[in-house]
Amino acid sequence: MKKQVFLFLFLLVFLFSCKKQQEYSETRFLMDTICEIKVVSDNEKFAKKVLDETFKEVERIDKVFGYSKDSEVEKINSFSGVKPVVVSSEVFSLIKKSIEISENTDGAFDITVGVLSDIWGFKKFSQEKNFVLPKKEEIKKALSLVGYKNIKLDEKKQSVFLTKRRMEIDLGGIAKGYSIMRTKEILEKNNFRNFLINFGGDIYVKGKNKDGKPWKVAVQHPRNKNEFLTILNLTDISIVTSGDYERYFVVDGERYHHIFDPKTGYPKNGIVSVTILHSDSTIADALSTGIFVLGEKKVRDVLKKYNFEYIIVKEENGVLKTFVSPGLKNFVKSE
Ligand code: ADP
Ligand code: MG
Repeated sequence: MKKQVFLFLFLLVFLFSCKKQQEYSETRFLMDTICEIKVVSDNEKFAKKVLDETFKEVERIDKVFGYSKDSEVEKINSFSGVKPVVVSSEVFSLIKKSIEISENTDGAFDITVGVLSDIWGFKKFSQEKNFVLPKKEEIKKALSLVGYKNIKLDEKKQSVFLTKRRMEIDLGGIAKGYSIMRTKEILEKNNFRNFLINFGGDIYVKGKNKDGKPWKVAVQHPRNKNEFLTILNLTDISIVTSGDYERYFVVDGERYHHIFDPKTGYPKNGIVSVTILHSDSTIADALSTGIFVLGEKKVRDVLKKYNFEYIIVKEENGVLKTFVSPGLKNFVKSE
């Protein structure tokens, strides 16, 4: 009899542990893009509850770092050249990290490009917008307000001061990566071990998919939406892309996009897309923007500071050339 009870219990535990792992996902429009979170779980109700909580956090981050009037970032901007602004430790740390990445990319990544985003018309981007090229004089004037060395941080007071009047910071090149990291933290805190976060093509994957295999991530061809550059097998890593093909306008056959060279004040031409693989999405996001400006020749200098893989696509006389880091082959799907 005892044996039978034992067998029954064993069977029950076995059946319980065999409960099917499913992928539960939710998609919302936040941070000016389509955001998807997918978790592998055997508990639908719990998964949905956590997904909902997680999106609340992304909504909050969107408000803190976005362009809305009452955001902390806009407050810093509105007091540029006037006085330091005390901010939350979250905003302070992300600005500090941005400056560190500026220093490690020879100033190519620079959040003080805010004025440039403004005069080039990318602050409120929409495909239908009528873009007007800024005048040379206007760009020259704006350039005098660009330079991360004019951000003064006070650790003790947790304050940020932009030393020149009308200077503006724009965290668009790093905030999405940061929000992906926060999302990852919340999912991990809720004991999820397998998930995928995809915010407008910037991705973090953890563990495996519902079939127990590494996540397959396709890297889009920058000039043909229906083609892939490659498909990668990924786990516990972030993959982030900066490109000239999502936010741009064309005047007289010339493409003007949203990533600026802080040295010239113009969108950086030549590079078409930069994809970065790094364990930290915040770093991957900033590096993809920074290396877009630096180009493939200087990527080695950045590799001395950070450990990452890359895919860089360049356009020369209408022909695309691809440069990849040697280690990328370890991630390429083999079937
Ligand atoms: P996306 O926002 O399309 O994912 P990126 O991560 O490359 O692309 O971010 C581009 C954004 O970064 C721009 O819209 C602007 O807000 C900001 N930005 C543009 N040029 C620079 C730069 N040189 N350094 C830092 N941020 C930049
Ligand atoms: Mg970026």
